[in-house]
Amino acid sequence: MKVTILGSGDAFGTGGRFNTCLHVEAGAERMLLDCGASSMVALNQAGVERNGLSTLLFTHFHGDHFGGLPAFLLDAQFVSRRTHPLTIAGPSGIEHRALHALEADFPGSSANPWRFPIAYVEVTPEQPARLSGIDVSAFPMVHDERAGPCQGYRLSFDGKVFAFSGDTAWTDTLIPLAAGADVLLVECYAYDIKLANHLDYKTLAAHRAELETARIVLTHMGMSMLAGRDDLPEERVHDGMIIEL
Ligand SMILES: [Zn+2]
Ligand SMILES: [Zn+2]
Repeated sequence: MKVTILGSGDAFGTGGRFNTCLHVEAGAERMLLDCGASSMVALNQAGVERNGLSTLLFTHFHGDHFGGLPAFLLDAQFVSRRTHPLTIAGPSGIEHRALHALEADFPGSSANPWRFPIAYVEVTPEQPARLSGIDVSAFPMVHDERAGPCQGYRLSFDGKVFAFSGDTAWTDTLIPLAAGADVLLVECYAYDIKLANHLDYKTLAAHRAELETARIVLTHMGMSMLAGRDDLPEERVHDGMIIEL
């Protein structure tokens, strides 16, 4: 599995970073894990061939993770002229949310006669899925239920496990999410300010021993995390970073 971090930013593009968008390659198949509002720019800048993506998988329905979907679909229809099927996967309600987002961003577009088949797949903690050849299991996170259910995922392929928290405050569910994973990509929005919806580094560090993974990479960093604390033992992601596993 090869994960390219196309967007590692927070909701506000702090530090000039793109909204969350991970490009995941597993054998011959490719998917996006989250596709935030700025992701079409990120995809174009990285030269990602959109028709090669077979799945878009979402963690939750905030704009910085989900907001790129309408433009992706319109690009597929009118620019990339996609013909092969696309799977749109995510928490319960994914189809309704997708149609609502299309209608909000490009009024009338939810009724487009798409030139390619679209399959909506709900992935829940009770209902794992195989997407783009990757076994995906969902874990409930604690973030903002108005934009949820909010989920983290374990992606398993060829004996390797990539775990991603999506957006969350500390929850003990991060422990099974991380257990035995080769890499945990975890949000770390703030440094030492406790928030109801996001993780801060101090809280994460206090729980470090409970996270049974050798490699932790921090993402979704706000201003206080980007302020240059070079003494942290964990890796911090940047746009364009590649994680091979
Ligand atoms: Zn976010
Ligand atoms: Zn969010």
